[in-house]
Amino acid sequence: MAKQLQALRGMNDILPEETPPWRYLEETVRSVLSAYCYQEIRTPIVEPTALFSRGIGSGTDIVEKEMYSFDDRNGDSLSLRPEGTAGCVRAGIEKGLLYNQVQRLWTMGPMFRYERPQKGRYRQFHQISVEAFGMAGPDCDAELILLTARLWKALGLTKHVSLELNTLGTQDSRERYRTDLVAYLTRFKEALDEDSVRRLSINPLRILDSKHPNTRKVVADAPVLQDYLDENAKAHFDGLCLRLDEAGVCYTVNPRLVRGLDYYSKTVFEWVTQSLGAQGTVCAGGRYDALVELLGGKPTSAVGFAMGLERLVLMLKTLGLLPAHLSHTVDVALVSMGAQTQLMPLVERLRDNYPELRLQTDCTGGGFKAQMKRAHRSGAQFALIIGQEELNTGVVTVKSLRSDEPQAQVPESALADYLKQRIQE
Ligand code: ATP
Ligand code: MG
Repeated sequence: MAKQLQALRGMNDILPEETPPWRYLEETVRSVLSAYCYQEIRTPIVEPTALFSRGIGSGTDIVEKEMYSFDDRNGDSLSLRPEGTAGCVRAGIEKGLLYNQVQRLWTMGPMFRYERPQKGRYRQFHQISVEAFGMAGPDCDAELILLTARLWKALGLTKHVSLELNTLGTQDSRERYRTDLVAYLTRFKEALDEDSVRRLSINPLRILDSKHPNTRKVVADAPVLQDYLDENAKAHFDGLCLRLDEAGVCYTVNPRLVRGLDYYSKTVFEWVTQSLGAQGTVCAGGRYDALVELLGGKPTSAVGFAMGLERLVLMLKTLGLLPAHLSHTVDVALVSMGAQTQLMPLVERLRDNYPELRLQTDCTGGGFKAQMKRAHRSGAQFALIIGQEELNTGVVTVKSLRSDEPQAQVPESALADYLKQRIQE
């Protein structure tokens, strides 16, 4: 026998029994997004490597360690997208969607990061990312947070997630802070871990995030960004908090919250849960007013977030929040004896008259008993029994598979209505 091949580590198959929960999540998100008038955009999975190194920042974990990059046949460096924002901004600039306009966009699909696979962390994973352009004030930040809060409510997750909020200030205040932070950290350079020493010149803010014990000790007394905020950033943050207070959204201000990507300024937020263990962030975002210009566009305000679908599906499953009807995929199972050629037109007429009906045929050619067994196993509510006699008389037998109701003889002309009245979700 030929050697079996396996999926790549950290890249999952989503099997038929798992796709209904995925679709349920995706459809719930889609309907909330459409209620807030966000429009879908789809961009390529492969982009020039430079888009990510410039957009996400060359000193970040993603670009330094996690990207799937390769040279294509003519020597250009390409990468599988590790996140959705950079591609969305690239498309927006290239197709003229951003300049002087308001845009509310979302995209959904697979992302790729070379990480150590574990529960809730994979090498191919899926995100829905939502981006809003052309709105500078805190209204839009608040709208995005309210939108996510509404989604949690629709999914029954409200009491299982909490919101953390911080501000990273404007570019200006961060520059001033960065200078002082570097001066401070340089004094303790000997105590810092290797990665942090390297980051000192490329991305010093990330050192605040270090897990290394000695570095953490040094960081504990470092200057804090909050003392450097300018009036503009402060007013923006206060404005956002006020809006959330008025709307009754609970949050915690977490001054240590810095996001893994370089492009954020002002608002950053994360929705976290205790239900997943270590990988507890299910949705993360913030404002990235500088990114459009950095990628070659005109200065454009922007704010957005991304949520990880694997973690949300896992949460819905673990907490038992998936609606029961998701596991039912068949309404009616057809049990047929002989005369397949006459049978098919009848079945097609039924499908014409009742297009939503989920009708499973039995194409195995097996006997009555075997077909009935399969009908029971399919989870269908009814079996439709059709043999030569039924075809001759035009009256079919409908047998309930979930109750003791006696079986009924229904003329074909009344069949669609008969089933419509009885099929429940
Ligand atoms: P983390 O701190 O967990 O690594 P991150 O800051 O790298 O997260 P983002 O880039 O902000 O994450 O991505 C947004 C969301 O996408 C995360 O909150 C998470 O839900 C999900 N996510 C990120 N990386 C992965 C992954 N490797 N596997 C599964 N989901 C992921
Ligand atoms: Mg990460």
